[in-house]
Parts: sequence; C-alpha cells; structure tokens
Amino acid sequence: MTAAKLPSILLSSSALVLLAGCATYSNGADMDPIAAAQAANDYAPDLPEGTGYFASESALPFHAPDFTKISEEDYLPAFEQGMAIEKAEVQAIIGNPAAPDFENTIVALEKAGSMLARVSNVFSQLTGTNTTDRLDQINTAISPRLSAHRDSINLDPALFARVRAVYDNRAAMAMTVEDARLLENRYNNMVHAGALLNDAEREQVKAINTQLSTLTTEFGQLARDAMADQPLVVDTREELSGLSESDIQAAADFASEKGFPGKYAIALQNTTQQPLLPLLENRETRERLFRLSHDRADGTNAVDTRDLIARIALLRAQKAELFGEPDWASYTMYDRMAKQPRTALDFMEQMVPALAATQRREAELLDAAIRADGGDFTVQPWDWYRYANRIKAEQFSLDEDAVMQYFQLERVLEDGIFHMASELYGLSFERRDDIPLYHPDVWVYTVFEEDGSELGLFYFDPFQRPSKRGGAWMGNFVDQSHMTGNKPVIYNVLNIPKAPAGEPQLVSFDWVNTAFHEFGHAVHGLFADQRYESLSGTATARDFVEYPSQVHEMWATWPSILSNYAKHHATGETIPDEMIARIEAAAKFNQGYDFGEVVEAALLDMKWHALSADEARALVGDPAAVDAFERKSLTDLGLEIDLVPPRYRSTYFNHIFSSPAGYSAGYYSYLWTEMLDRDSRKWFRENGGLTRANGDHYRKTVLSRGGTIDYFDMFENFAGRQPDVQPMLEARGLVGGEEAADSEVSDGALPPRTAGVE
Ligand SMILES: [Zn+2]
Repeated sequence: MTAAKLPSILLSSSALVLLAGCATYSNGADMDPIAAAQAANDYAPDLPEGTGYFASESALPFHAPDFTKISEEDYLPAFEQGMAIEKAEVQAIIGNPAAPDFENTIVALEKAGSMLARVSNVFSQLTGTNTTDRLDQINTAISPRLSAHRDSINLDPALFARVRAVYDNRAAMAMTVEDARLLENRYNNMVHAGALLNDAEREQVKAINTQLSTLTTEFGQLARDAMADQPLVVDTREELSGLSESDIQAAADFASEKGFPGKYAIALQNTTQQPLLPLLENRETRERLFRLSHDRADGTNAVDTRDLIARIALLRAQKAELFGEPDWASYTMYDRMAKQPRTALDFMEQMVPALAATQRREAELLDAAIRADGGDFTVQPWDWYRYANRIKAEQFSLDEDAVMQYFQLERVLEDGIFHMASELYGLSFERRDDIPLYHPDVWVYTVFEEDGSELGLFYFDPFQRPSKRGGAWMGNFVDQSHMTGNKPVIYNVLNIPKAPAGEPQLVSFDWVNTAFHEFGHAVHGLFADQRYESLSGTATARDFVEYPSQVHEMWATWPSILSNYAKHHATGETIPDEMIARIEAAAKFNQGYDFGEVVEAALLDMKWHALSADEARALVGDPAAVDAFERKSLTDLGLEIDLVPPRYRSTYFNHIFSSPAGYSAGYYSYLWTEMLDRDSRKWFRENGGLTRANGDHYRKTVLSRGGTIDYFDMFENFAGRQPDVQPMLEARGLVGGEEAADSEVSDGALPPRTAGVE
C-alpha cells in the first residue's frame, strides 16, 4: 500500500485563532476597474511564517529529513502552524482582487500547504515505523483536526466560486493535459464534498456525515468486541490436540487472562477462516471455532451489528441521493479507474461461473481425501484447510525452510531487486551513510539514471520491530514536482523477522515477493515526472495504484533475475528450478477457496453499496432481512457460500463499515489491479520479457504518468488494447491456458498474502 497523499488544502478551526487579524483583503468588485487592476498587480498578501524545523525545506541532499534535528515536540506546533499558514494562503487566494484564473487559483491552491505537507510526510512515516506513546498521542489529537480542516476548505463557498469560474472557462483556456487534470480534480473534489449543493442540502450532508461517523465508530467497536470478547473456550487440552505445545500453553494463559483459569481459550482472528483450524484434530473443536468466527456480530451470540449496517447503508444511499446519484457506489467511485459500479460488478460476476465450478471441484477433491482418511463426512468450511493443506503438502512437497536458505536479504535487494531495476530501466544504486536515519536498521541509497544523473533517494526499512505497524508499504518523504523542483525521496517498509546476530539474514519467499512488490511502488514514485505534487507518482486511483507494484512481483522469479540473487547462503548454489516450479504450481492450488472468499467479500461490498435509499430502508429494523440480503447477494450468482463463505461477512466487515467511507465500494480494487497486472505480464512475456526497451516502454506509458491521464488510456498506451480478465483467471488456475501459465512466474500474490491487501 502506498501512503496516502495529504490533500493539499486543509483547514482547522483552531488554527483560525492564530490568524485572526493577520490580513484583510479588499474585494475587487467594490472598486472601479482601473483601481481593481492596480490592486491585482499590487496584491501581495501578508502570510504568516512558520518557525522550527519544518518551517523550511531540509538542507540535506534531496531535502531528506534531518532526523538529528527533529524532536517529538516539534510536530504539534508544526502541524498547527502548517494549518494556519495554509488557511492564510487559501484566504489570500479568495481575497485576490484579480479575476480568478488557473494560475492565481488552481496553481495557487496546489502551492498552498507546503509546511503542512513536510510535517505530515515525516510524521506519518514515523508513527508507522518507529512510534512512541507521545507520537501516538499527537496523532490522536491531530487527526480529527486535519480532517475538519480539509472538509471546511472543500466546502468554502468563496473558494469554490473562484474554482468554478476557472472550471467553467476551461474550454477557452490553453492548458497542458496535466493542467486540465489538476483543474478537473480540484473541481470534482469540491463538488463531491458538496460545493454545488444548496444550504439546506449541505446541512443534510453534514448531518449525515456526523451520523455516519458515529455509527461507523460504533460498528468498529462492536466488531472488535465480537472478536476480542468471544474466544473459543474448551475444558481440556485433548480438545486442542494437533496444536503445538506453545500454542496450547498460550491458550491456557489466554484462558486465565479471560477469567477461565484451568481452561483453554483461543482468540478469534480478523477473517472468517481462523489460522489454527487446519491444525485442530478434533472436528467438534474445529466446528465450534469456525462457527464463533462466522456467526460473529450476527445476533447468534452477544453482539449484533445487523441493524447498524442497514442504517449505515441507508445513510450512504441517502447521501448519494442528495448528490443526484442512484446509490453510494455511484457517488463514491467518481475518481476510480472503473468509475461505475456496473463495471466493477460485471468484472467480478464474469468470474463467478469458473469460480463456482472450481469450488465444487475442490470440494470433491477434499471429500475424497476425507474418505481416504477414514472420515464419514463431507467437507465443511471448518475442515477445508486441514485437508487442502494436506493435499498441498503431498502434491507439492514444499518445505518453506529449505526455500528460505536461498534468499538472503541483502542479496535479494542488491542482486535481485536492484539488478531488475538495472536490466529493465538502466538504474544504478549507491548506498550512502551520510543521511541521518530514524532507526539504525534503515538503509539509504541514491538512485541514478542510466546517464549517471540523480533520480532520487531510496530508503529501505526491512525489519519487524515492536514500534512498527504490521504489513508492508511505500511512501514519500518528499514528493516529486517540477514546480517545486523536488526529486522524489521514497521509502519501502517491510516486516521481516530479524535474524539473531551472527546468523545469515534469510527471507521467506513471501517476503521476497513483497519486497519486489513494494519496489514496484518505489519506481512508480521514482519515475514521477509531474509538474504538480497532487498528481505525482503514486497519487493515482485506489483501483489503479496496486497495479504497477503487482507487475513487479513477476520479476522475482524471472530466470535471469533469480539466478543472479537466489543463491544458497552456505553453498552459493543457485535455487533449483524444480523448487521454483513447485512454488508456482502450489500457488494455483485451492483457488476456489483462497480467491473465492475474496471475490465474495468484494461482491458483498458492492451489493451493499448498490442499494437505493428505498432498498436500504427496507432492511432497517429487520435483522432477518439483512441476513437474507447477504445470502441472496451471493447465492443468486451461484456461489457456494456454505462451503466457501466470504472472507468477511457483512456483520464484521471492517473495511467497509468501520469508517464513514473506508474501503466501501472499493474492496474490488485488489482484484481489479490483479487483472491489470496479469494482463501486463502477458504483454511482457509476448514482447520479449525483461528488456531495456520494454522497461522504457512501461516507464513511458505507465510509471512516469502519475495521475495525469485516464487510466484506461494509460493501459491502452502500454498494451495497445484494453485490459482483459482472462490472464488473471488462468494465473489463478480457474480456466485452462496451462501453456501460458506454465511459462509464467507465479508470485503467490493471493490477496491475503500480498502487501497492502487485507
Ligand atoms: Zn502495494
């Protein structure tokens, strides 16, 4: 996942206090035209100036943050000053006596808020990778203020009047493609916030936003309670047979902690499937654990979120109605690649027949394994992974520990990832030790173009530690922009367990894959070639941004790359081909479930958010109707949800119900970008694979384009045609095409294991 770009217009009510009386501006409308023109020429509003570290750009190379000079107590005042300055900058734009034009309004808005961006870029990386209680405290305090800030600027009528004046005149203006996109985004974002609504409607939007905020917070808390407060409790250790000694000990400790001394307790995990299920030998224990998870928050046990989600869906549909849209998905997808809910739905629904057939086929395979094992039952979801894992182990005899011996972290980065970047894009890398770090385990490199010029700075922060959140991500300390003249300063963050001192730092294949993925985001940021920060590099749609990163996973097992870095740490021997072949084959196994549960969750998300207000209203106050709606949404399509339930059921689907917008009508993005990815791999394979020419072509058509052009156009510029879902279905083993799939490198990019996807 990439760090979200901070919207460049922000405002906080508390910041206003700092600004009172700082400047007043005359309105040109009150003056005669000559005086107004004179005033416009002389217009030099008095803006407040910041103090402290973040007041100006860092003096280090690439304006890299100077961590020797930043203290925790610098952040809060920098946020407050940053907001105050930006507020003053926005007021200065509004107060400009000159008629609104692209430069004095749209570009001026883009320039506003540079101090706030500086502090935000550093702060978000530190709270993610090396946080402290104090940083967490500041984060909690500042987040709502930043969001209130953003909202009230987006809804400022005087500002919108100027933006609209420029927008309405766009046909008569000479603009670059990027200018046009900047204007369109600015206008659309403000319209989307409610700038075109009348006062009464705007009040309704605000009321809905407040209610949504309350209800979604309540949902998040209840979903968490349903997970945290309802562990599986068993009386005897026999019921847990199959678990390791340490898991059983942990269950005993957890039971004591939960007030059941002498018993054993297993905490529920986030998704419907539970990680310990495959190990549990006792089928009754398996069923109990699975049902606790699956029936979470649906009224079976103490917690019930069914009415809450109906009310959230209704509020969203009502808000969409105020904007003249038929449903929430239509309202919220305006800036996505797919744009229309129907596009995303058609995309997913066309996979269903192959998926449902695969689910049934896999169930038969599992039933046979159960019979061979002497069982007299047919497979249920609580049995699924126990038998699937067994078949997988027998068929592919994959020993992850043996695989790991070939992947040493430094070799993966310098001989694998950097080698790929050199072969594809002509880049070179030089490690440097003169840049101050936020943690000693971070590595920094200068990235050079083929001609030796500097492209940007790259930080690599590989190791797990308690102060770092889980997962893997990429972000910018400094955003590329031709307007500011700044080159990109990029970081990649992973969570690889650190080897004990003196032992080789080995990496699992999943982490190797993730490292290539994150570096895909990094080159998307490094090749940014935009005038404006808000369109630069990875500042792209949610259903596009994971596409370039996924494509780069393909090179992890590309033969010429692999042979350059995957060498046994002790013997130096290159990883055997058959080991890679087994990894690839195993990645296609069990897709009816692995892929199916994600498709089902994505479909559920879209069905909830394709409801009209009337349809949603019919579910409020009728929990049984909520159950029926969820079920019908998937079974009508022919999916086997009793065998393969969705990865999240509606009642604990945090992505879509635990914040006012969250990933609502957006969970499909993981699948959508995978389609683009798999189709692009096909293009590379058909066009000579890993070559400088192909790298340059991809850089030119996709990686250097930021968010400046339509995403379908971007794809077509690259591939010469529109994206096709078939390569993804082949890669998932859902349809034929074995020949193509065999030559391809499977990266095991199942959503649950892919960076940034949860
Ligand atoms: Zn990603």
